[in-house]
Amino acid sequence: MYLKRLELKGFKSFAERTEIEFMPGVNVIVGPNGCGKSNIVDAIRWALGESNVRHLRGQRNDDVIFSGTDKRRPLGLAQVDVAIDNCDRVLPLDFAEVSVTRKVHRSGESEFYINRVPARLKDVQDLFAGTGLGKKGYSIIGQGELEQILNLKPFDRRLLLEEASGLIKYRHRMEEAETK
Ligand code: ATP
Ligand code: MG
Repeated sequence: MYLKRLELKGFKSFAERTEIEFMPGVNVIVGPNGCGKSNIVDAIRWALGESNVRHLRGQRNDDVIFSGTDKRRPLGLAQVDVAIDNCDRVLPLDFAEVSVTRKVHRSGESEFYINRVPARLKDVQDLFAGTGLGKKGYSIIGQGELEQILNLKPFDRRLLLEEASGLIKYRHRMEEAETK
């Protein structure tokens, strides 16, 4: 499973329809400050079901919609389409490629699609649960978060590693057994 393609339309600074192709392995996005690198990561998180707009560096739900520049009027709709290669069937759908689309209108109306079929936020979250790509998968580490992790006290860093590796449930069980 890997991220194959990303299509943005009206998302944050990407007013024009923008398509980005990714390859298996390491991909690097470079560019000057403020050119939209982090917005690309925000778009992936958003399409995969991030429901807290503050985690996308925004205050309100419509902050993800292109808000206009001196030369261009604001848009009324943001749309992100994420295509995931699923040849290894890590996602529990029998398709070689799975696409997840999220749209939000300035009126507040929001839509999700899985392979172009209307879906709920919960369907998208369920699709990625347990694959490491979901909200708590640590597969997306934001700017500044790495420094936070490195600055953690040893015990807290250990807890984070236990959580990321799926070991935390054993710690919980151990603690439960000890209190009995
Ligand atoms: P750095 O290298 O400093 O981390 P970056 O490439 O990660 O920069 P981003 O944070 O992705 O840059 O992009 C910031 C730009 O996106 C700012 O110019 C900001 O005005 C613009 N932006 C954010 N939200 C919107 C929006 N809703 N509409 C239009 N532009 C937006
Ligand atoms: Mg950035």
